Amino acid sequence: MNAFRAGNRQFPHALTLQIPLVAALACFLSAPGLAQSDPAEPPQAHPAPKLLARPGRPVARQEVDEKSMRALIEQLVACGTRHSLSSWGDPARGAGCARDHILARLQEINKQSGEKLKIVNDKFETTGPRTGNKPVPMENIYAVLAGSDPALAKTVFIVSGHFDSRNSDPLDPTMDAPGADDDASGVAVSMECARLLSRAGAAGHGPYRATLLFAAISGEEQGLLGSSRMLEWVQQQGYTIGGMLDNDIVGSDPAAGAPHRVRLFSGSGEMDDSDSPSRELARAIEEIAGETNIRMIFNVDRLGRGGDHYVFYKAGQPGVRFTEPLEDYRHQHQTLRTENGVEYGDQMKYLNFTFMGNVARDNAEALRQLSLAPAPPSQLKLSGGVTPDAKLDWTAPEDPERAGFEILWRETTSPRWRVYDFPAATAEFVLKSVSTDNHFFAVRSVGKNGARSVAVPTDTGRRLPPGRQ
Ligand SMILES: [Zn+2]
Repeated sequence: MNAFRAGNRQFPHALTLQIPLVAALACFLSAPGLAQSDPAEPPQAHPAPKLLARPGRPVARQEVDEKSMRALIEQLVACGTRHSLSSWGDPARGAGCARDHILARLQEINKQSGEKLKIVNDKFETTGPRTGNKPVPMENIYAVLAGSDPALAKTVFIVSGHFDSRNSDPLDPTMDAPGADDDASGVAVSMECARLLSRAGAAGHGPYRATLLFAAISGEEQGLLGSSRMLEWVQQQGYTIGGMLDNDIVGSDPAAGAPHRVRLFSGSGEMDDSDSPSRELARAIEEIAGETNIRMIFNVDRLGRGGDHYVFYKAGQPGVRFTEPLEDYRHQHQTLRTENGVEYGDQMKYLNFTFMGNVARDNAEALRQLSLAPAPPSQLKLSGGVTPDAKLDWTAPEDPERAGFEILWRETTSPRWRVYDFPAATAEFVLKSVSTDNHFFAVRSVGKNGARSVAVPTDTGRRLPPGRQ
């Protein structure tokens, strides 16, 4: 946590490269200089809160078991195709073959966890244009690690990958569709998170206050059908969705200089105000996993493409998508073939397990910290318009494990929150001599363990354009 991080970004990039960081910070703190054509805000002392360190014992990169991730992907590729309209009954080929391998892997993981996971094979019927509008059977797999806190256990953080695959023809359930990257890689990340976070004994990281759900789902290529079902299932169980981390195409990193940062897509929200629940989840993940590991993309997805997080985003729930830094379209949604010396198809040999292991670590650590945090505040209100002071108030459930709340603010043009102050438990706060108009504001809960909830922004009072009421 660095309250001045975003402030430092106000310097033009070329300049920060030339000045050592300390000098740049001193320049910022002593105030004359680049940003000083604006009045200081607040005019006197800026609060300098003592911030709690984040929870200890983070998931370490060397804990990630790349060998098991590779082994699972090899098994999934060996199913030939995992198309959702292929066989669910043949143990050697098709979607059922994939389901069997994933269930077997989860059972191994569950044994290592001391049977802490509840494994669910959710069988459902679904329909859509890509099932020929006919009801067809599909299956999802969920491994649930129940939260330790009676109240917070009703909140679930989900990590997910889709195990179905396709070739050039989205309706072809017969020909090979290895789908090593799209999306056996995401399934491997989700399962590795299950292993890292459920491990028993000294190697374990828990207990976690909120519930974690590790998912491998079907039907993505037929129109996000498995994700729609998962959202329905989670809501039927009575969970509040704390966040949904979709990992889709996270296995390859072919550009020179790998491993690079993984891209993290989040939609802006209807008002394009950059403060949707999905955006706040993305910011929280970036802050946990670090800017050196996460490249936030303020866009719901790549142009013309979709993913399982979209179902959650569209429902107003926090859902984000991890995707590799530079996609090679010759290796996605392509029937295996060679044309004019160019190989097409989504094969094992293009994967980079150093990169994929990084993605697994980033997901696991984000899930760990989010599930250790107190509940976020709610009913956040900003008032004090046309007065010298901005005022915030909010509500939050009683929680003896909460240390207080961080008051966050940012320039309206800045992508990241900064901490303004850290009051101990209170449900209102006055930012003396701070305008309501020049910054955006948010509040998040902070646990005594240092874990932060996802931030909750205030309503900025922005108005829809005429005709959009
Ligand atoms: Zn995909």
